Amino acid sequence: MIKYTWFLLYIIKKRHVLNTLRIFGTMRFNDVIGQEKTKEQLRKSVLSGRIPHAQLFYGPEGSGTLPLAIAYAQYVACTNRSDKDACGVCPSCKKFEHLTHPDLHFTFPVNTSKSVKKDPVSDDFIALWRENLVKNPYFYSSQWYSVMGIENKQGLVSKNESEAIMHKINLKSFESEYKFLVFWLPEKMNATSANMLLKLIEEPPPKTLFLLVSEVPEQVLLTISSRTQPVKLSRISDSVLVDALIARKSLPIEEARSVARLASGNYISALEIIETSQEGAYNFEKFTTLMRLCYMRNIPEINIWVEEMAGMGREPLKSFFNYTLRLVRENFIMNLNNETIVYLTDKEKSFSHKFHPYINGRNILAITNEINAASADIERNANGKIVLFDMALKIVKLIRK
Ligand SMILES: [Zn+2]
Repeated sequence: MIKYTWFLLYIIKKRHVLNTLRIFGTMRFNDVIGQEKTKEQLRKSVLSGRIPHAQLFYGPEGSGTLPLAIAYAQYVACTNRSDKDACGVCPSCKKFEHLTHPDLHFTFPVNTSKSVKKDPVSDDFIALWRENLVKNPYFYSSQWYSVMGIENKQGLVSKNESEAIMHKINLKSFESEYKFLVFWLPEKMNATSANMLLKLIEEPPPKTLFLLVSEVPEQVLLTISSRTQPVKLSRISDSVLVDALIARKSLPIEEARSVARLASGNYISALEIIETSQEGAYNFEKFTTLMRLCYMRNIPEINIWVEEMAGMGREPLKSFFNYTLRLVRENFIMNLNNETIVYLTDKEKSFSHKFHPYINGRNILAITNEINAASADIERNANGKIVLFDMALKIVKLIRK
């Protein structure tokens, strides 16, 4: 047990360090997973000096359209690029690292939030946007909406936003030969805001690049998309995704393969799968510890367990309660059916093999009620330590029934 905990902590720590390092990485072609053909086509346009002034990046979910558009801008702006990639060290690249280059502008869908109550535009959220993007440029629009805290509303590109774009584009470029507008999700424009931009996209001021990035290109108004050069990305191949997961997430090869298989070329989905499985491993460890301590009636150790869990915050605790409910239910069913039910991982099964007799007809209802009550209390912001300790003491009594 101790060995296992140590190992888990080691992995979490190691991943944390690696992820932190990546925060200071650049967004070069090399940082975009796969897409070699598309990168080649983009590099060619730069090296031959034939850069289309408006381009529309699109591709399957999780293929990396947004990071590729930014990598392209960085490549164009780099003062010391090779024929393969931006240099990563020139003053321009340094500013791209934090996405604070003065000629790099962003537009993305927004809505009113707790902090922005009226007429929201991208610039109201720009610090959050950069922070989110530098950490990880692979995300769904729904994930971005939840980062912005716009609750259940959709993001929109309003006529105020179009005015802001016209203003930005008409500025002289500050440092780079070109200025860039990375426009994420042009499909969120309504007809009014699109009409305001038509002329600008068709005939932008010299040395201006519109890099439109769409999740659903069919929904981009035809008047807009017809004025752009398409840049198509393809699904990331399984082998490329496996390599990326090993390099970026330090997954062992077997785990990387199974995640890649499930994610089918979608890197965002791969990230979600990893997060869920890390959470599952953590919950398993915490659940088995609690059950052992309750069985042994080890109150001092239960206290330590409670201290740690109470510090976790509401969302991880809710996930723990859901996990616990599932395991308790599966163990009860195992008890009834003589171990034939298989909704458990191998690790869970080997624990449950010994544990299941303790979840039976005499206590299943009461234990389930206690966990549900604790979960509801946490939802209502009750004191975590009191709730968890109370729940553990009830389980101590129930588990030997
Ligand atoms: Zn450079």
